[in-house]
Amino acid sequence: MSKKPKIYMSRCFGFDKCRYDGKDFFCDFAENLKKHAEIIHWCPEIAIDLGCPREKIRVIRIDEKNLLFQPETGKFWTEKMLEYSNNYLETLINIDGFFLKAKSPSCGVKNTKLFEGKSEKIISYEASGFFAERVLALFPDTPVLTEEDLKEKEKTQDFLKKVFLKYGRIPACFAGFFS
Ligand code: SF4
Repeated sequence: MSKKPKIYMSRCFGFDKCRYDGKDFFCDFAENLKKHAEIIHWCPEIAIDLGCPREKIRVIRIDEKNLLFQPETGKFWTEKMLEYSNNYLETLINIDGFFLKAKSPSCGVKNTKLFEGKSEKIISYEASGFFAERVLALFPDTPVLTEEDLKEKEKTQDFLKKVFLKYGRIPACFAGFFS
C-alpha cells in the first residue's frame, strides 16, 4: 500500500492555467491535499482539444438528454467528452478520492448550471459536468468533493475520513473541518 492516498484533482487547481479564460484557480484545501497525497491531475477540456483560452461550453437539455454545447461555435462536444472520460477513467486505479472544480460543465459535481436547449434559460443549478458524471458512475464508492462542498463541514469531514484514515491519521492542516 502506498504511504499517501492517491487523489485525482482538476488540473486548474494551480497545476496549469487551463480554464476557459486562460487562468487557474487558487484553493487552500487543494494546496494542502497536494502536500499530503499523491496527486493525479488532468483537464478534460484540454484533453478533447478545446484549446486554451477557449469559448465556454455549457450543459444543455434537449429532448430529456443532457448535451455539451459551445454556444459561440454552435458545436456539440458531448460524444468527444464522453469517449475521453470513459477511456481515461478506465486507466485510473487505486484512486482514494476526487477533488473536482465546482460548477464546471466538465468537472462540476451536482453544482453545474443546466440550460434549456440553446436558450439562456437556466433550468437547474444542480447538474453535473460530463467528466464528473462519469466519475460518479464508474467510482460509486470513492469520495468526491468540490471546492463548493467545503462550505458543508460534514461532507468535507466524510471525504477526509474516507481518504486519509486508512493511511493513518488526518493531517493537522485539515483540523479546522473537525472543530
Ligand atoms: S474545471 Fe476541469 S475542465 Fe475546467 S479547466 Fe478545470 S480541469 Fe479543465
